Amino acid sequence: MVKQTIQIFARVKPTARKQQQGIYSVDEDEKLIPSLEIILPRDLADGFVNNKRESYKFKFQRIFDQDANQETIFENIAKPVAESVLAGYNGTIFAYGQTGSGKTFTITGGAERYSDRGIIPRTLSYIFEQLQKDTSKIYTTHISYLEIYNECGYDLLDPRHEASSLEDLPKVTILEDPDQNIHLKNLSLHHATTEEEALNLLFLGDTNRMIAETPMNQASTRSHCIFTIHLSSKEPGSATVRHAKLHLVDLAGSERVAKTGVGGQLLTEAKYINLSLHYLEQVIIALSEKHRSHIPYRNSMMTSVLRDSLGGNCMTTMIATLSLEKRNIDESISTCRFAQRVALIKNEAVLNEEIDPRLMIVRLQKEIQELKDELAIVTGEQRPEALTEAELLQLEKLITSFLEDQDPESRLEVGADMRKIHHCFHHLKKLLNDKKIHGKSTVSSEIKDQDCQEPLKEEEYKKLRDILQQRDNEINILVNMLKKEKKKAQDALHLSSVDRNEFRHSQSSPFPPGNPEGPRTSSSASTQVQDASTFGYRSTLLQRKTGMREEMSLGRQEAFEIFKRDHADSVTIADNKQILKQRFSEAKALGENINEARSKIGRLKEEITQRHLQQVALGISENMAEPSVPDLLEEKLRSQLEEEKKRYKTMFIRLKALKVEIEHLQLLMDKAKVKLQKEFEAWWAEEATSLQVNSPAVKSLSHMKPFPQTPGSQHQESPLLSNKSDVNAGKILPSSCPILHSQEQNRTSASLDDSLPARPTSSIPLTGDSQTDSDILAFIKARQSILQKKCFQ
Ligand code: ADP
Ligand code: MG
Repeated sequence: MVKQTIQIFARVKPTARKQQQGIYSVDEDEKLIPSLEIILPRDLADGFVNNKRESYKFKFQRIFDQDANQETIFENIAKPVAESVLAGYNGTIFAYGQTGSGKTFTITGGAERYSDRGIIPRTLSYIFEQLQKDTSKIYTTHISYLEIYNECGYDLLDPRHEASSLEDLPKVTILEDPDQNIHLKNLSLHHATTEEEALNLLFLGDTNRMIAETPMNQASTRSHCIFTIHLSSKEPGSATVRHAKLHLVDLAGSERVAKTGVGGQLLTEAKYINLSLHYLEQVIIALSEKHRSHIPYRNSMMTSVLRDSLGGNCMTTMIATLSLEKRNIDESISTCRFAQRVALIKNEAVLNEEIDPRLMIVRLQKEIQELKDELAIVTGEQRPEALTEAELLQLEKLITSFLEDQDPESRLEVGADMRKIHHCFHHLKKLLNDKKIHGKSTVSSEIKDQDCQEPLKEEEYKKLRDILQQRDNEINILVNMLKKEKKKAQDALHLSSVDRNEFRHSQSSPFPPGNPEGPRTSSSASTQVQDASTFGYRSTLLQRKTGMREEMSLGRQEAFEIFKRDHADSVTIADNKQILKQRFSEAKALGENINEARSKIGRLKEEITQRHLQQVALGISENMAEPSVPDLLEEKLRSQLEEEKKRYKTMFIRLKALKVEIEHLQLLMDKAKVKLQKEFEAWWAEEATSLQVNSPAVKSLSHMKPFPQTPGSQHQESPLLSNKSDVNAGKILPSSCPILHSQEQNRTSASLDDSLPARPTSSIPLTGDSQTDSDILAFIKARQSILQKKCFQ
């Protein structure tokens, strides 16, 4: 059993502006426990504390300041937890902090760069690497991905769900058995045999989460996500199985409801989130108080699911994510306070060992049979039925190996079955008789041989043995030479198939040169998520869920191209595409070098063999057992061979790492593509509705909604209003016309709301009618030219 308090770490998100300095300081004295001091700026402190400058100090296991990268976070926080999970203990890492403080960035990773991948992909990579290394046990890995939103659980990996809104998905519910163990109904477990399969599941879940999200539910900041790696291990032949679970938890934003100040549905959600985190806080308070007997785990779904992680059988770690800007001071302080309380909770992790019932049954059956046999002997009971053919064969095999065993202590174990014992005697007698009749001559010749050996002197014996060894070597070399020709042909075949495997992604890349962003053609409706080809399943699912069609009408296609070109994400997609291209060509060049090294290794080996053969032939002709001087040329060839092997290995390791990176980048781009598609479909449907309401076309352009832009781009100054207008002059740039955004849009959206029935925010009906689609396109184009005119005025 390992007793440990919950480990707490702090991570400070990089601030955009440097003038935020002076708000906090990190004290990481080696001897003391590191502490984070948050200094309340004078203007904030003035209000409540007599014009004094206040500061708050919080202790953490470690504090990772703004410059800490994802690798450092993984090495220091997640790796130790992953190691204890590999040893059979449960582990949990949860990120807590206000929205925008870097929880998702820390747990899952950034959406742009490979180096930004977070704890989940890095932990998967580490775990699978360790499993591959450890051949002493049989490991099985399963993945589940749960989202808790408004106190309801959703399975992010449910292969059946076709509904596009979160609320329509089957709910995951909690069942508690009499031993108070929690079971989750409707949460699927997916077998993952490789890092790649597990990574695909992570991206599938994330994409499902993104698709289910609507502007109204904003699930990503208001829901909790629990990615769980279930690991079982067993030694071969043993009936004892170890189970360990690793929960990687991205909690909802911890900001308080009072601050959000919203009404309607948003308030309900904010209340719920708070309710959920409030219950988490209550559990933590109860656990940190010494004599509390009742811990209110059952109050919320999240505390029920994480019951073991909080004061139970688990090694738990919390990461407090902090965005230490002036306006976030109070939230940051409350996050740190929460962490201090969490640090008081003691957990007791035990090895979760269990006897596999199936293996136990086999073992018990065997034991029963043995006991029955013993009983039959003791009571002298005769068993009427004869031994089966298989049993007889098995016995004869046992006798043969017993006789061949040189160990005088060896025993013939046939169990307490008189029929078997009788049969053994019978068989032995038969063998002895056979030997008496047929084996006389052999026995006598063996004796003769032994007699001859006596006068042989030790020296002669050694010489003979050397010659025998030499002959053996010659035979081996000749046989090897013969085999070589055959192997060469096989190697060539194998090589080409390995290459095909290594670069299969380059063929199935989502961005083949001719059609850089076209939908994948490899999708197949019948593919299951559990299959290795999660890709096929994923793209089919995503196509279905986003309403993405393989055949868009020409008008829509054209509009999509314009939309894509102007979307802020297209820069990321283009960047990643560029990196992918580079990686592909690097992988290709590396593959070629590897092949070259491989053939060089082959050539060197052949030269060494030839050389060796020559030396042996020389030795034979001069009647020497061994060449007197070491062969310098052969040694040189051997050292070249070693060098080449080293080079080959280094390149191979790099190629493997490249493969993982390429895979990750492809998944990132897939996700970005789905997001783009989703936003386009929503925007397109909206345009279609406006068109139907306002036709004939372009009655009034003022109610046209702008293209959705990423939050970053919304704050940017309009390129048309700045001096860069010429660059973007030919594009639709809705955000470039602030007049339309701020004033007209507000006014017209209000009038639209009056005239239209409420439209569902998800599953927007699409036109699918190419005539209407062309109309919309004409409409957009007309708007484009007017927008441009307006902006230039
Ligand atoms: P949360 O999940 O807590 O709401 P996110 O992880 O989504 O916050 O982070 C908000 C934004 O800040 C994202 O764009 C993310 O990429 C960025 N970000 C967060 N932490 C870091 C960091 N340590 N380094 C660089 N960017 C970060
Ligand atoms: Mg988040």
